[in-house]
Amino acid sequence: MHYIPFLKPKLVPKESYQHYLERIDASRIYTNNGPLNRAFEERILLEYFNNEGAVVTVSNATIGLMLATAQLRRRGKYALMPSFTFPATPLSSLWCGLEPYYIDIDPDHWCMDEKRLEEAIQMLGEEVAVVVPYATFGASLNFAYYESLLQRGIPVVIDGASSFGSALAQQDERGFQGAIVYSFHATKSFGIGEGAIVYSGDQELIQSIRRSANFGFNEQRESKQLGLNGKISEYTAAIGLATLDVFHEKIAKREQIGEWYEEAWRRHKLSDLGWRVQQAKGKVAYQFYPVLCRTDRDNKYYVNKLDASGIQVRTYFSPPCHLHQMFELHPRGLLNITEDISNRIISLPIWEDMEQEQIEHIVRCLANA
Ligand SMILES: *Cc1c(COP(=O)(O)O)cnc(C)c1O
Repeated sequence: MHYIPFLKPKLVPKESYQHYLERIDASRIYTNNGPLNRAFEERILLEYFNNEGAVVTVSNATIGLMLATAQLRRRGKYALMPSFTFPATPLSSLWCGLEPYYIDIDPDHWCMDEKRLEEAIQMLGEEVAVVVPYATFGASLNFAYYESLLQRGIPVVIDGASSFGSALAQQDERGFQGAIVYSFHATKSFGIGEGAIVYSGDQELIQSIRRSANFGFNEQRESKQLGLNGKISEYTAAIGLATLDVFHEKIAKREQIGEWYEEAWRRHKLSDLGWRVQQAKGKVAYQFYPVLCRTDRDNKYYVNKLDASGIQVRTYFSPPCHLHQMFELHPRGLLNITEDISNRIISLPIWEDMEQEQIEHIVRCLANA
């Protein structure tokens, strides 16, 4: 069996967006909310959000999280979030002058534990400026609970960086009055290189984020609010449009690979051997396939074993954020589940042209490890 890399991103080929590039050459419009960017946003809103609410493209999800947090945050000092996330989540709050406060995750679905979150909200009161849940690895969140936070005046910015495509089968997030940020980084399911969108059911919020991503300019190009340059170019929008044309096929491939993993998992009885998978709510468009190793050893042992069998894996998110030097002094609740899961997490390979025998090889190696 040949070496199996962790990811092998495959973006749309140049032929599929050649006709868009020709339009750029003809129009000589290269950025600043040009026609391709507008078409890209309109199609996303129609095809994925049934035209409810609004979306704005931004240069990446980290900038999207920053701008959404800057718009929505109330007075107060803390951004409540999981530690089991990518460093972009706490970094985006730090850039807004907020201090991350880490909350433990649920042992089954690995998203923030709402009971722990509620305890922290009760304890910190007015000091809570924003809540930033992460939709872990594309799992859906309990939107009813986060809507209830909004109703209590607590802003919510969802890090849905790995969730675009996962939402396909759900309607929960449509109309959500907080903000949801989806990444289009090359390694995500909807990969276009660099890029992201912010979605909200609140159209004015999106208008405001659009202005803040363009230097805070109003219609007269007067700086009216804190801004920066967070736009995407027309070239990026061209790749985005071509990706929309084939996204259903890309998602179907990822789902097929997910099914192969599930089938091999059952056949090799990995659950009986002590291995675990995420109990994600809703349909997931896998970016990779996250599992927990048995409790007898930590994930490093199995990472080395797999590596010796020619299988490259990762351990997202190990270490969790609160164990990174940059974040280690931030306040937190108890993080036992986060630490247990981080010690056991293994991210298995997924890329769209994987073959079933490669999945079989990976799962067999786990069973024999
Ligand atoms: C990928 C990712 C980000 C960052 O997205 P960019 O578009 O690369 O800025 C943020 N949060 C999470 C959870 C991610 O997985």
